[in-house]
Amino acid sequence: MSTVEILGTAQDAGVPHLGCRCESCAAAREDPRRARYASAIRLEDAGRYLFDATPDVRFQTVDVPDGVFLTHAHLGHLTGLSYFGRESVDADELPVYATSGLGDVIRDNEPLRSLVRERNVELRAVADGDPVALETTSVTPIRVDHRESLPTGTLAYRLDGPNRSLLYVSDVDALTARVESLIRDVDVALVDGTFWSADEIGRVEAVPHPTVRSSMATLADVDTEVRFTHLNHTNPLVDPASDARERLESAGFRVAARGDVVEL
Ligand SMILES: [Zn+2]
Ligand SMILES: [Zn+2]
Ligand SMILES: [Zn+2]
Repeated sequence: MSTVEILGTAQDAGVPHLGCRCESCAAAREDPRRARYASAIRLEDAGRYLFDATPDVRFQTVDVPDGVFLTHAHLGHLTGLSYFGRESVDADELPVYATSGLGDVIRDNEPLRSLVRERNVELRAVADGDPVALETTSVTPIRVDHRESLPTGTLAYRLDGPNRSLLYVSDVDALTARVESLIRDVDVALVDGTFWSADEIGRVEAVPHPTVRSSMATLADVDTEVRFTHLNHTNPLVDPASDARERLESAGFRVAARGDVVEL
């Protein structure tokens, strides 16, 4: 058997969010139990594998994992890789799986380049649809659209365990028919829930994500267990007592919670 543990459920910048004094951010500063770490999961097979290297990684895991699968090159998904370098745990050839484009960026640019030079990490290129076989779980990277401006690409991951399957799609521009079918095709899906509604922030066109409200309508009849993750600090779902949370749960969906474990 293999398991997946949810390690973080916030958009890249976390909750609290730098510069923000909204109710959720103020509450999280007041009580760290209400803070949310950036979105990440850990697969436990015979080894342990992180998906996303977040700036909160030192709170999310104790030991150096047996591998890290990167989704893309944005703040909340990549910068935690630095914690495997000399200034921190000084890892020894930690396998890091990424698109070849992202691998090139890491290899060619400081500060992450030092991780390769010092052999803290060993980059392994993954290709769209080409599964990586772990002990009992197969991990398939799937290219998804997320900001065309990011030339190194963005990956979702599908994990197939001995009994069940899980999709991790933390960042995507829209819930297209293709993404919808990826969700319908698994037992559990952890889905981009950055925004509840389109009026949440002033610059929503610059950071496209499917809103949870529209995803709830699209996915109303799915058999898949859908949990929303990657919540922005402005998303009312951050507050467990919100009306939005009530509406979501009564429609049969959930907000992903840190510490939740899914058996595959
Ligand atoms: Zn993100
Ligand atoms: Zn805030
Ligand atoms: Zn992103």
